[in-house]
Amino acid sequence: MALSERIDRNVDLTHFEGKIPVSYVYTYGLGLEKFFRAIKDKGEFLASKCPECGTTYFPCRIFCERCFSEISDTYKVPGTGRVESFTVCHLNMDGTKKETPQVVGLIRMDGAEDATFVHLLDISPSRASIGMRVKPVLKPKKEREGSILDIISFKP
Ligand SMILES: [Zn+2]
Repeated sequence: MALSERIDRNVDLTHFEGKIPVSYVYTYGLGLEKFFRAIKDKGEFLASKCPECGTTYFPCRIFCERCFSEISDTYKVPGTGRVESFTVCHLNMDGTKKETPQVVGLIRMDGAEDATFVHLLDISPSRASIGMRVKPVLKPKKEREGSILDIISFKP
């Protein structure tokens, strides 16, 4: 079947295998740019609080997702938190088995208690527990690129 062929019956549809080159630029937006720039440049974590309803956000936001008010200020939080939940990953994205299982945690962030953050926990599955205190581990400053991967993991 040629690409220009007209398809009159959907049961005749098939697929084509190949690669399509796609170039794109991903932008974080104003709120997340502040967040990742603070981590990259200063190793600091920024949260924000809605001036109308008081909801806290981590990472920081520029508008409230609950009441849609504008949020113009950010504040520094320690980046520490408490594990609310966790799961253990045994498979890679391609379905192959991981050499070592990885623990991914849902972390309630100190100073922005309305917010949770999901990230790798640097701990063996048998030691992970709900309620455990964790702190972030960042890449060395010269290796940071302004992305989520600048946070290597959270550890007890
Ligand atoms: Zn609000």
